Amino acid sequence: MKKIFKPETLMMSHGYRPELSEGSVKCPIFQTSTFVFNKAEDGKSFFEVAYGLREVGADEHPGLIYSRLNNPDMEILEDRLTLWDGAEACAVFESGMAAIATALFEFLSPGDLLLFSNPLYGGTSHFVHHVLTKFGVEVIGFKPHATREELEKLIIESGKSDRLKMIYLETPANPTNDLVDIEMCRNLADQFHKEGEKPLVVVDNTYMGPLWQHPLKHGADLVLYSATKYIGGHSDVIAGASLGSKELIQRIKTLRTFLGNMIAPHTGWLLMRSLETLKLRMEKQAENAQVVAQRLAKHPKIKNVHYLGLLTPLDGKDYEIYQKQCSSPGAMVSLELVGGESEAFTFLNNLKIVKLAVSLGSTESLAQHPASMTHAGIDPQEKLEYGITDSLVRLSVGVEHVEDLWWDLEQALEAVPEPKLEFDEAMI
Ligand SMILES: *Cc1c(COP(=O)(O)O)cnc(C)c1O
Repeated sequence: MKKIFKPETLMMSHGYRPELSEGSVKCPIFQTSTFVFNKAEDGKSFFEVAYGLREVGADEHPGLIYSRLNNPDMEILEDRLTLWDGAEACAVFESGMAAIATALFEFLSPGDLLLFSNPLYGGTSHFVHHVLTKFGVEVIGFKPHATREELEKLIIESGKSDRLKMIYLETPANPTNDLVDIEMCRNLADQFHKEGEKPLVVVDNTYMGPLWQHPLKHGADLVLYSATKYIGGHSDVIAGASLGSKELIQRIKTLRTFLGNMIAPHTGWLLMRSLETLKLRMEKQAENAQVVAQRLAKHPKIKNVHYLGLLTPLDGKDYEIYQKQCSSPGAMVSLELVGGESEAFTFLNNLKIVKLAVSLGSTESLAQHPASMTHAGIDPQEKLEYGITDSLVRLSVGVEHVEDLWWDLEQALEAVPEPKLEFDEAMI
């Protein structure tokens, strides 16, 4: 019987054969633009596969041609990434935005309808509102906690239900940790199928993945990542990935070949190095986040903590979705201070270990102010609807010693002025 190893075991070996690289234990950086063919017949045969003129044979490994099409650091990284999500195939990119933009361009055409969850990552939001619309794609966003009936109504009232092509989700939402039910969106997409062609369900899983949420298992067709975040995990690289069926990823790879936004060999190599400690890092981050979130929730200067680990059955639907969809509360904690922007800024300006920076999922803890930073571009009214208030601070918890982290958060909170009373006591 063939033993099936866990992804964390396979991160050190999967897809790599030392004998092809002078016995090197580690996959070298194949810093080369092009590859030598043994004979002209090989070149011809490799190109036939690359151009889709024939299928790859059962035992055949597609030959290396040119680093915009394929490169060992790119391909081995792709093979390893499929293991976490249980995906058939993966395509890696030089940024998360490249992975997202390529998927949207490949599967949407002029006249199609895209339904998406709000709030979206800033870059994605810009791409959807300012680039896709320029190409004639109709885009409709929905609010956190929208029900299936409300989504159905949005689609029907758009008058374009026959052109629904994709439902695009971010769950948990950044920065509020609001959840969207992937399975519900799958059923909704199937309801609007046309001649057997079903609208795609696409999930940006950056906030939870690839460890704590596996959207493909809940009916999604594609999973997208900013690999800059947990996958890279050290705030030293920008990269992205998309995962799904062989068929969908092949289409994405073909467009990638012509956009030329594939990952570079060195970036691929860095991510393989990161993947070896992915589980260790993410588990430690989640463990620290749990402690920090629970203590923050009890702090008198904190009004509210948005963290999946604090959900209870009283939270209704969100709790149900969390139980069904996520295997951990993750390491993203958003806190609302008593007060407004001034209190949030005082808190941020006094942090000593936690760095004041955007991005997330890295070994070091990071904090930022969504309303004026990552989500500054959102309309003020919409910001309030999505719960992005002036006193909200987003915290990405790292792998530091948890007591050092808590010391830092507590002393920064101490620097925040005492909450003002509702009315002036001197007036009585
Ligand atoms: C960072 C991020 C992106 C964009 O990724 P880049 O690697 O910066 O291009 C997309 N989605 C989410 C949720 C992100 O956090």
